[in-house]
Amino acid sequence: MNALTGKAVVVTGGSRGIGAAISRRLARDGADVALTHVSPAGRARAEEVVADIEAAGRRALAIRADSADPHAVTAAVDQAAEAFGRLDVLVNNAGIFPYGPVEQVSLEELDRTLAIHVRAAFLAAQAAVRHLPDGGRIISIGSNLADRVPTPGTTLYTMSKAALAGLTRGLARELGPRGITVNLVNPGSTDTDMNPADAPGADDQRRLAALGRFLDPDDVAATVAHLAGPAGRNITGTTVTVDAGSNA
Ligand code: NDP
Repeated sequence: MNALTGKAVVVTGGSRGIGAAISRRLARDGADVALTHVSPAGRARAEEVVADIEAAGRRALAIRADSADPHAVTAAVDQAAEAFGRLDVLVNNAGIFPYGPVEQVSLEELDRTLAIHVRAAFLAAQAAVRHLPDGGRIISIGSNLADRVPTPGTTLYTMSKAALAGLTRGLARELGPRGITVNLVNPGSTDTDMNPADAPGADDQRRLAALGRFLDPDDVAATVAHLAGPAGRNITGTTVTVDAGSNA
């Protein structure tokens, strides 16, 4: 029996990058996995993740749900719980990377970023607590930029990811009596479509890291798997930074 056999998981933004790696890893650990996506390209990628998980003998479900839409987020969590007959783990992962001088951030970009990174994480957690059993898990994917800002241009991103620490600590206190753990994983530079390891500027990011390298999405997924599994049962209300030492 694997660590997550019999468990059901929902991962937001599970079609690509870190979310896809988390979806595949938690399925490998035994879970059935529902994963959300938003773009047309994301739909095809989500179907690939679903096919891989099903080929490995687990149930999987792709759900189109724009995290900027509050009703879609709640509905996706409920749909996952209904499809699998239970929900044990929520992973808030969907994200975007607004970048640029603060003077150029539009009101629309501000609202959209906060909606995807903050409001959606809150609403998904709110929906999940109606389904999670004793021993349930809520795990959010933040960023190491929430703690240290090495270059200009990330004020909005940093602000939105920093809010997840408050969500995590508050929920950990609220849900502790039910045996539910709540944690935040803050990755550093990770090789995905959002931040390709061969893009201009990637070497600057490598120079910041004590280990001098990018993460692979599987590195982040491994930490999520630890928190989601039985070994994580006494970790709650905290942040795990997985950043190759960029914030050291
Ligand atoms: P990618 O751009 O590779 O993937 C983003 C994922 O989020 C996709 O599945 C995408 O869906 C989904 N998504 C984006 N917007 C929405 C939305 N409005 N509603 C629903 N889903 C959405 O990013 P990463 O894998 O790199 O990032 C994953 C998380 O990790 C993000 O929260 C990011 O901020 C964080 N992070 C990433 C780092 C990095 O260096 N890569 C470093 C630190 C944190 P679709 O495929 O449909 O577009």
